[in-house]
Amino acid sequence: MKRPPEEPLHYSIFVRFYQTAVEPSLLFVCYYKIMNPDYDYIVVGAGIAGLGAAYTLSKKGGEVLVLESQSSPGGRMKTNSYGGKKYEAGAGFILPHFKNIRALADELGCKIVPIPKTKNFTFMISDKRYLFDLAKDEESNFAVFHIDTVSEMVGVPFLSKQTKMHILMRVGRLYAKLIQFKGKSATELSQEHDISIYNLLKKQFGKDFADNIIDPIVYGAFTYSAKEMSANLVFANLGDLMKTQYQTFEGGIGELNKRLAENLNVSYDSEVEKISKNRDRDLVEINFTTPVGAERLTARKVIVAVPGDKVLSLINSPTQCAKDFFDKVRYSSTARIFCTSNTDSFKLTNQFIISSSASQKIASVLVKRNVYGSSEIEAVLRKEFAQQIISKNDVDLMVEIREDLSQILQEDFTIDKIHRWSSSLPIFYPGYLEAIAEFKSKITSEDQILFAGDYLDAPFSEGALRSGLEAAKHAIGQA
Ligand SMILES: Cc1cc2nc3c(=O)[nH]c(=O)nc-3n(C[C@H](O)[C@H](O)[C@H](O)COP(=O)(O)OP(=O)(O)OC[C@H]3O[C@@H](n4cnc5c(N)ncnc54)[C@H](O)[C@@H]3O)c2cc1C
Repeated sequence: MKRPPEEPLHYSIFVRFYQTAVEPSLLFVCYYKIMNPDYDYIVVGAGIAGLGAAYTLSKKGGEVLVLESQSSPGGRMKTNSYGGKKYEAGAGFILPHFKNIRALADELGCKIVPIPKTKNFTFMISDKRYLFDLAKDEESNFAVFHIDTVSEMVGVPFLSKQTKMHILMRVGRLYAKLIQFKGKSATELSQEHDISIYNLLKKQFGKDFADNIIDPIVYGAFTYSAKEMSANLVFANLGDLMKTQYQTFEGGIGELNKRLAENLNVSYDSEVEKISKNRDRDLVEINFTTPVGAERLTARKVIVAVPGDKVLSLINSPTQCAKDFFDKVRYSSTARIFCTSNTDSFKLTNQFIISSSASQKIASVLVKRNVYGSSEIEAVLRKEFAQQIISKNDVDLMVEIREDLSQILQEDFTIDKIHRWSSSLPIFYPGYLEAIAEFKSKITSEDQILFAGDYLDAPFSEGALRSGLEAAKHAIGQA
């Protein structure tokens, strides 16, 4: 290259060096940056589904980042605290059949500890209480009706004679059906005719049994009515649901997610807004916001592990199959109300299971002894009521529920904390297992955007984790 006369020598050397060495390498870096992703995998959501998936992927050697909108991990399985006390805002226990949860806990040195059994169940039907006394040796303040033996069961006043006859005649038939379905997977059961668990049991045992026993139990446990719950879902998870040996982790239910997150690269306060496929570059782009501002990252594959009713708002141009499926995903809403008993006259742990004729606001109340020696009260709101009040402030909400709670507890109590869940649990309505099976049948290892969450498996932590592990297998290409 001929040096222009006005340029000094050192300038010309610099230009030559730049043109022959720096420029090509810069170009190479730019090309490399454009063609290669920032991460192999990005997982959106640090709940048990997302963390389980990310942990599996990082063990396989991939470079993984988890983006989480909150400032701590766990999602609906997290231990919170107020006033020096710990409480479980969402999931409260694991069960002996949760084999993936247990294996992970074992691997991460998370000790599993038992939760004391509920000693009494009080069924509240209209304005009456019926106490199923499992703690005969202890004193109770409000025992109204004790059912210890089959003969007492036959005498219960809230079931009609006809219902009792049905129970005696048909219990064998129902048992045979349970045996027939036992061990069948959700995919196998998705092919079977499905109705609601309410209708199935109403058909077998009568309306008052379904209304007064089944619906309140399902409502209290799942935050939605048995009328909306698939019978096949119940059959598919019978092993889990029949076990009542409640367990947790030493330090609280959130401990497992905390340990998982400690082993991963998690970016907190990172709210994902859009996930788009860049077909030219064969990558997935993620736009998210942090307290500092808007950011963008790319990955080879992305696992979206947020509640299913939020997914469509995140995906730019979803496939028709994803659109059809996610349009059908529905969640219940609830708020957990944590109170302390002022009179401390509750001698027992007691689960109040409440029929809609007794309260249209509260579905169940659990009274338990805490580690400080006082009684704690935890109430679950009914879905429809929760939807109405979910955006009200705490003071208004307390005014709305105080009367019902007082009637149920007949105690002096203080409301300490309200935890709202606008997406509490996925609704596994009759036919939903079939929709899941159809959606999953179209997933391949070529997919760059994969999904995980309890709404794809079963409405508890083990279901969420199973779906995360499955998504990770697809991402690696081992499904
Ligand atoms: C009140 C209640 C009681 C329950 N009781 C039990 C129980 O006793 N036992 C049991 O096994 N299960 C129970 N469950 C169910 C269990 O908690 C859930 O099935 C499980 O925790 C769901 O995990 P997940 O990872 O699918 O979703 P989540 O835990 O909801 O995780 C999703 C994560 O994604 C994050 N996120 C959402 N949107 C974005 C975004 N745009 N960008 C970035 N991050 C985002 C969320 O902050 C969250 O951390 C209960 C649930 C509730 C609500």
